[in-house]
Amino acid sequence: HLSKRLEKVAEYVLEEGTVADIGSDHAYLPVYLVGNGLCEYGIAGELNEGPYASAIEKIRANDLEGRVEARQGDGLSVLEGRKADTVVIAGMGGPLIVSILKKGQKYLPDVKRLVLQPNVAADQVRYWLKSNGWSLIDEAIVMEDGHVYEILAADRSGVDPYEADKIRKQLWLGPYLMEKRPEAFHVKWEREYDQLKRIYSQLQLARQKQARHREEELQQKMKWLEEVL
Ligand code: SAM
Repeated sequence: HLSKRLEKVAEYVLEEGTVADIGSDHAYLPVYLVGNGLCEYGIAGELNEGPYASAIEKIRANDLEGRVEARQGDGLSVLEGRKADTVVIAGMGGPLIVSILKKGQKYLPDVKRLVLQPNVAADQVRYWLKSNGWSLIDEAIVMEDGHVYEILAADRSGVDPYEADKIRKQLWLGPYLMEKRPEAFHVKWEREYDQLKRIYSQLQLARQKQARHREEELQQKMKWLEEVL
């Protein structure tokens, strides 16, 4: 059984060919996809020894050796000598996802689809996609255990969802999500709005305090000068 978050990620994986799940941990995603006939072949890429061992164990327990392969390595380097149709990078921060994509540029030309699930800073991932010839084709947002997760799917070609006069807003909120506005979108951005409101009122208070201080200082100096002049 897959988490709601990974289930949504799975929906965007191309059925045909190979999925490479980078930072796969227990290989839950490729095991689920290949085990259920939703993808032909899986690569579970892992940097770290512990999760890599868990991936091997999970693949073996599901009798998927030969159809899902665990490979230890940094980011997209596990694609050395391999081809992947879909690359998934999920459950990490946006900056780490971007750095994995940047470092692994040379492995991307054969990839048809990217499915990215940044835990934070999705705007940085959208910006990288846009600047590197990927078309954002859809977005999803799901809520699980009080956390809200955004999922971005990109292809080599497609209709560019960005409009010049709204681009900063679209990169931040997500061009599709801000149109669809599902329940989880409201939850995420209402939280953000409350936080911005708190910061804003703190800023106003600090400014008022500073102005009062400056006012007192000016009054005092004027008074001293009035006494001596
Ligand atoms: N992708 C899974 C998911 O969404 O549930 C697991 C997410 S887990 C929080 C992040 C995993 O990425 C860890 O298992 C970690 O070892 C792995 N990881 C971190 N940096 C990596 C890198 N540069 N290359 C490959 N794996 C990495």
